[in-house]
Amino acid sequence: MSFSADVITLFPELFPGPLGASVLGRGLAEGLWSLKATHLRDFATDRHRTVDDTPSGGGAGMVLKPDILARAIDAVSPADDPRPRLLMSPRGVPLTQRKVRELAAGPGAVIVCGRFEGVDQRVIDARGLEEVSIGDYVLAGGEVAAMVLLEAVVRLIPGVLGAAESHAEESFEGGLLEYPHYTRPHVFEGREIPTVLVSGDHAKIEKWRREQAEALTRARRPDLLEK
Ligand code: SAH
Repeated sequence: MSFSADVITLFPELFPGPLGASVLGRGLAEGLWSLKATHLRDFATDRHRTVDDTPSGGGAGMVLKPDILARAIDAVSPADDPRPRLLMSPRGVPLTQRKVRELAAGPGAVIVCGRFEGVDQRVIDARGLEEVSIGDYVLAGGEVAAMVLLEAVVRLIPGVLGAAESHAEESFEGGLLEYPHYTRPHVFEGREIPTVLVSGDHAKIEKWRREQAEALTRARRPDLLEK
């Protein structure tokens, strides 16, 4: 059974978007993973196909209605669906590579994209939506956030990116940021590739990369070293 993603959105035409390009797109075409975007508006019940309403208690903006969203969730995800139900939200638990890995090892995800001021709290509670944030900033909608999450997850699905080894040394995987990369030409605008990398001495190269990764992490993300 391959990884199956269902996205609930007011803008289904945005999908697959960048997820349809390059190796992720090839994986999608080959059935290594699947993606369905469901239009929230299709579950509206009135003539105007209303999906939102004014916030109870007053204030600016609009809130996605719980009844309409619940109908959409139930249509794509029956009660016994083993997939986690995620709500993209700046209030959510920040997305990490650990969470990405966990999702990639699972059956897929149902992802709700918010818009406007957000989503009625009762549907979050009633459908057990797990709020996930992609960072401490506010987007206009959950669609790009859902793409960020899916792009990070899908590239880990076996067969999508090629060799599994290529993941092991990446930023965050070993608790460190990745060492710097170089490729030909040997001299670029007077700058040479570090000698050790052209020495052919694999033990020395590995040591150098490790030191570089540690120095970079210490300088840029000391919080990662503390963990
Ligand atoms: N009023 C909300 C922000 C709404 S932004 C608040 O202050 O918390 C509209 C929608 O964009 C959200 O419902 C969510 O789905 C999405 N969104 C915005 N920022 C996000 C982030 N950092 N991570 C994930 N989703 C985000």
